[in-house]
Amino acid sequence: MVSSIESSVGIERKVVTELPGPKSRALHERRRAVVSAGLTVGFPIYIERAEGAILRDVDGNQILDLGSGIAVISVGHAVPEIIDAVSAQVAAFTHTCFMVTPYESYVEVCEELAAVTPGDFAKTSVLINSGSEAVENAVKVARLATGRQAIVVFDHAYHGRTNLTMALTAKNMPYKDRFGPFAPEIYRAPMSYPFRDGLSGAEAAERAIKYIETQVGAANVAGLLIEPIQGEGGFVVPADGFLPALSAWTTKNGVVFIADEIQSGFCRSGDWFAVNHEGVVPDMVVTAKGLAGGMPLAALTGRAELMNAVHEGGLGGTFGGNPVAAAAALATIKTMRDRNLVARAREIGEVVLSKLRSLQQDVAIIGEVRGRGAMIAMELVVPGTKDPNAAAAKAVVNYCNQQGVIALVCGTYGNVIRLLPPLVITDEQLADGLGVVAAAVRSAG
Ligand SMILES: *Cc1c(COP(=O)(O)O)cnc(C)c1O
Repeated sequence: MVSSIESSVGIERKVVTELPGPKSRALHERRRAVVSAGLTVGFPIYIERAEGAILRDVDGNQILDLGSGIAVISVGHAVPEIIDAVSAQVAAFTHTCFMVTPYESYVEVCEELAAVTPGDFAKTSVLINSGSEAVENAVKVARLATGRQAIVVFDHAYHGRTNLTMALTAKNMPYKDRFGPFAPEIYRAPMSYPFRDGLSGAEAAERAIKYIETQVGAANVAGLLIEPIQGEGGFVVPADGFLPALSAWTTKNGVVFIADEIQSGFCRSGDWFAVNHEGVVPDMVVTAKGLAGGMPLAALTGRAELMNAVHEGGLGGTFGGNPVAAAAALATIKTMRDRNLVARAREIGEVVLSKLRSLQQDVAIIGEVRGRGAMIAMELVVPGTKDPNAAAAKAVVNYCNQQGVIALVCGTYGNVIRLLPPLVITDEQLADGLGVVAAAVRSAG
């Protein structure tokens, strides 16, 4: 595999034009006439090929990808096993609609999901096209199975951009502003955010539960939906004990505990799922991003008695569990196992955490370094305060981009730099990328 990277894309970061280069700039100008201005582009270099952790753009620049297309390409770009599986499936057939005439790979993906998700009980799944759609299905099933309506979500949560998931998402701009009205029966509880609230997990859980019990009523709650490590909201890792306490409360009150593992799942956090770090077993798990090596596929997996409570025909969709995406998912999961990407994510986490924590010693704009596995972030602040420093975050990302490195911003206040490298990144590439990130932070601070 290494030799194929060297022969085609080249394993090194290499900047050969100003960034974006002339061909990218021309394409970006051309888009104006036909692509909605409602889409923003973080780094308008146009990509023509990618392998491993390197993207090559139309101007011949080789860019180090520390974003993985937002936590999607965990297994790396252009994995031979995935290319083979997808190519064979494209040649065999590309669509029948599982609801019309089914095929084995859909069943196999659901078998894999039942095996890898936490919980030693019978589970069934439905496959759909996007993370948002999977979250919507979780809400449908939780409501139907419990006969209740309220859904509890948390501050800083991100669950998608469809109408129902906009209501579930916390941040107004850019996700919700003037797109309402939003769906009813959504309640937002306070999140555990140790850097900003200073509470222990038990204290933060007590605060959230008190809110739910007094302002919603436990008996009205169908589902509690939470990202075990928040993604867009700022890579917020709740204090130890927060998730277990919420999970225990849901069990006691007949509430469906739904883990949104769309960003944190599939090895990203250094375990198959981020809930595993505290032994939390959700009733339902929502997955998407890392699941299918870049092909669009999402899943809702849950306790069989909940998932099977739905009447025949109540779940589905034309493209859901598309055979090409299903083939990609099977090859992706196999690659994760064969290459032990759980262990690799942990190694990456140790390297990134120690590098950024030592940087924090001498750069005053880093308020906190946090995360698990290959999901690490720095929250940037105005020196000497905890005031969010969104300008610094922007400067860091711009500096990285100019050096040919992709890093992403997140956070309710736009002040968090998140690193989501492909788990197959080499040690040399990781060291190179972290060197650029460190220089960027020094320059911004
Ligand atoms: C990306 C994301 C979603 C939405 O997924 P889409 O595929 O973009 O609809 C939902 N929840 C979390 C935690 C995400 O990171």
